[in-house]
Amino acid sequence: MKKELILVLNCGSSSLKFSILNPISHKKYFFGVVECLFLKKTRVKINVLKKIYKKILPDFSDHSFALSFILNFIKKKFFNYYKKINGIGHRVVHGGINIKKSSIINKKIIFEIKRSSIFAPLHNPSNLIGIKISKKFFPHLSKKNVAVFDTSFHSSLPKVSYLYSIPYKFYKKHNIRRYGAHGISHNYVMQKSSKILNKSEKSLNIISCHLGNGSSITAIKNGRSIDTSMGLTPLEGLIMGTRSGDLDPAIIFFMYKKLGLSLEKIEEILTKKSGLLGISEKSSDCRYSEKNFKKSEQSKLAIEMFCYRLSKYIGAYSILLENRLDALIFTGGIGENSQLIRKKVVSKLSLLGFYLDQKLNISVNKNNYFINKKKSRSILVIPTNEELFIALETQKLIKLIKE
Ligand code: ADP
Repeated sequence: MKKELILVLNCGSSSLKFSILNPISHKKYFFGVVECLFLKKTRVKINVLKKIYKKILPDFSDHSFALSFILNFIKKKFFNYYKKINGIGHRVVHGGINIKKSSIINKKIIFEIKRSSIFAPLHNPSNLIGIKISKKFFPHLSKKNVAVFDTSFHSSLPKVSYLYSIPYKFYKKHNIRRYGAHGISHNYVMQKSSKILNKSEKSLNIISCHLGNGSSITAIKNGRSIDTSMGLTPLEGLIMGTRSGDLDPAIIFFMYKKLGLSLEKIEEILTKKSGLLGISEKSSDCRYSEKNFKKSEQSKLAIEMFCYRLSKYIGAYSILLENRLDALIFTGGIGENSQLIRKKVVSKLSLLGFYLDQKLNISVNKNNYFINKKKSRSILVIPTNEELFIALETQKLIKLIKE
């Protein structure tokens, strides 16, 4: 094996995911996750060539400790693979106003990531720690660290879509605008659907629904994002696991002035206690509400509201695509797995010419992405693969570096 593996790092707010893969064959050699960072019983799980290693780390471990643990583990036990790493791709949540594409990490990029932390305070600082630690472990690859941004796919949004109708100075002075998120996933499924539909990206019009704990929908015209449901932050838009998505901003004033709740408390309610969890009053997990759909009125409501909001967005976004809508795409944990959500959403879309084939909806798999009836527009279920996308972007950029 040549020196050709890519290490992909995704340092989230309280978790850390990583993988080591070959960007040419797409073969994944290592992948793993650290959960419960900053909490008790921080745990790490590493999959190596079909074997699983588990370990409990010291309570309240942080990203720096956890990542050092993983890299030391691989270095010690699997040096043959470790030494073949030739580039490192970092998922970075927010690129701010200036970054429009994946970039080799240099001082300017670090500055922009730091500057954009104001919009992603739980994520960008963790991403910076991932960059620092990987440079420490791989000093010879210090020019081969690549940042792949969740916001950059949405840098093509037109002004009418990204501006909020608040005084213009808040945009000009403070960069308050829609940035969107999940761009890596939306971009990946756009590229994949272009292959499946045998249509060039430049002439592809689709609506991509990334439905997971966090959910967002993007209107993609001629291969470019023209509108997306997440806004300045990932709080706006669809109903999510624990996030409210769209609401009347006056609810915040009401909670603050009339109910006497602090701003911190309101933020916690809207980001951590709302969405499927808030409506069902039981769980943020879609599977719970599905399981209890017939037994619990509130679980049923959670599912119905989730689908109602999503179908409303699909209707609105279809108008933006004007003269052509090639396909509706479902991806993310819910989009890929929930037959019920797909069925309920598509049942509301006959005006747009979408009709579900229930047999295909149930049997959808890697070899058959389509779940629509013959007379319908295309509806596809495409498993997202953000780490592969990051590895490919990393490979593309480091190939341009002169050794
Ligand atoms: P994240 O945003 O954290 O990446 P995921 O994309 O992994 O989230 O999606 C997590 C969501 O997917 C959870 O709400 C979970 O309930 C849902 N999910 C996973 N498997 C299924 C399934 N078989 N049926 C319904 N929902 C599922």
